Amino acid sequence: MNAMNGRSTVLNPYLSTYDPLVAKHPGRGLDYAPSYWVASAGAPPEDDGPIAGDCDVDVVVVGAGATGMSTAMYLAEDHGIKAVVLEANQTAWGCSSRSGGQGQNASGRLSRSQWIDRWGMDTAKRLDTEIRRGFDNFKQLTREIDCDAFDGGHLYMAHKPAKMDYLRNMAQVRNDFFGYQTKILSADEVRERYCDEREHHGAMLEEEGVGVHPLKLTFGIMRRARALGVKVHPASPVQGMTTVNGIHHIHTPGGVVRAKRVVFCTGGYTWQKMHKLTKNKILPILSNSVVTRPLTDAELAACNFKSKTFMTDTRTLRFYYRLLDGNRLQLGSRSSITGADAEDPIHLKLLTDAIARKFPPLAGIQIDYSWWGWVDVSHDMMPRITRPDPNLNIWYAVGYGGNGVSFSTWAGKRVAQRVVGKDIDQDVFNLPIYNSPLEYPNIMNTVRSEVFAPFRRFGQYFLYKWYWLNDEKL
Ligand SMILES: Cc1cc2nc3c(=O)[nH]c(=O)nc-3n(C[C@H](O)[C@H](O)[C@H](O)COP(=O)(O)OP(=O)(O)OC[C@H]3O[C@@H](n4cnc5c(N)ncnc54)[C@H](O)[C@@H]3O)c2cc1C
Repeated sequence: MNAMNGRSTVLNPYLSTYDPLVAKHPGRGLDYAPSYWVASAGAPPEDDGPIAGDCDVDVVVVGAGATGMSTAMYLAEDHGIKAVVLEANQTAWGCSSRSGGQGQNASGRLSRSQWIDRWGMDTAKRLDTEIRRGFDNFKQLTREIDCDAFDGGHLYMAHKPAKMDYLRNMAQVRNDFFGYQTKILSADEVRERYCDEREHHGAMLEEEGVGVHPLKLTFGIMRRARALGVKVHPASPVQGMTTVNGIHHIHTPGGVVRAKRVVFCTGGYTWQKMHKLTKNKILPILSNSVVTRPLTDAELAACNFKSKTFMTDTRTLRFYYRLLDGNRLQLGSRSSITGADAEDPIHLKLLTDAIARKFPPLAGIQIDYSWWGWVDVSHDMMPRITRPDPNLNIWYAVGYGGNGVSFSTWAGKRVAQRVVGKDIDQDVFNLPIYNSPLEYPNIMNTVRSEVFAPFRRFGQYFLYKWYWLNDEKL
């Protein structure tokens, strides 16, 4: 079946206020968000149409984003397993068609200093080796798949003078303990070599960073997977699951899929009622993004754009931005807390105000694309790629906290190894992202409990206020 222009399996229009935490369903054939990536990726690869009738399979992957498609691709490429992918909406309908496309040498939200504080130097070094391996693998994928990759590193921009000390310390930790060549640049150096971003006071340049067209990348991974026999079923939401004699009965509108092994790759779109192992363990957090009309030559010159290196700033609710192929500017951040509030123009204004502050010649520029999506935040801001219950053949790879463009592809590789039992003797699986499950939230360092889950958004509301005060006023 051909997903002609990605619309053959569209059963329902795009739902801008969709909110996984309160949604009554995981979506079914919803149209894509109106992202620049959807508009510029070309026709989606062929898929296998919605599930039509009951069937028996070996491995089911739930979610057809970068994580799910990588898992299916590596199961086929490395282990000869032809998985069946169940996707509620369309291929890469979630974050993988909505992100900033900033492929960082990172996984989750914590910095390397925070790894050291939390787990000690030895574990931090082993984690760095693992994440760097994942980043190198991602970089290789971006060479093999046509995805407009720009291998220009990452500029971390100090949004106020006091943040330069923070960046100097971070660069020193990276270089002294992990062997990187991270550099500190003055504001003038950034302006001369990269762009005239007017808000910053200097930056840290990480050499590792590849900006991509995230949807072209995920489509490319899907094409490779399908060429090896993987089946991808859009408009096939997992509406519930029971396990009978070790076989998982996965309920979709088109039929029951009976599977021996299941991998959840549902990210921030993890539906609360999908399974008890994931319920209340992921906090979906909204991230919004805009893409401008193409900049004129005069605007490019006025902003002195010399590079497509991607940038983030040092705000806690950071802005991320870069010049895209075709000379459009992308910029995003976080603002709305609920899906119901996402369309409030105040959130769009946060982004257009930031463009005006950072690039005054672009103040008021036409915004051609505006969208948002839910990133998956775990209890400790780090992902989990694991089998949470040894009695069930169920794995998950989730929780990147908005830093999953590169690591999702490696998480797919690692979870595929776990599914086939090739994780037994490997030391790497003792790392914290592999050896412990997602947990319930913890309030003020008290015991973790599901009873705190309904209050997470209240906490988020006050934290956002505090972050704003801290970033802008203190
Ligand atoms: C606006 C925005 C900007 C971002 N920018 C960056 C960035 O610059 N750099 C970076 O590293 N990361 C970024 N991220 C995060 C990054 O996009 C993701 O971590 C990455 O794409 C991995 O996604 P995934 O495959 O795990 O999940 P997704 O791409 O969200 O895929 C999950 C899929 O699961 C499906 N699903 C959910 N429930 C069910 C069900 N019950 N049955 C069947 N299917 C189901 C969903 O429909 C969805 O398609 C950003 C995210 C957003 C939203």
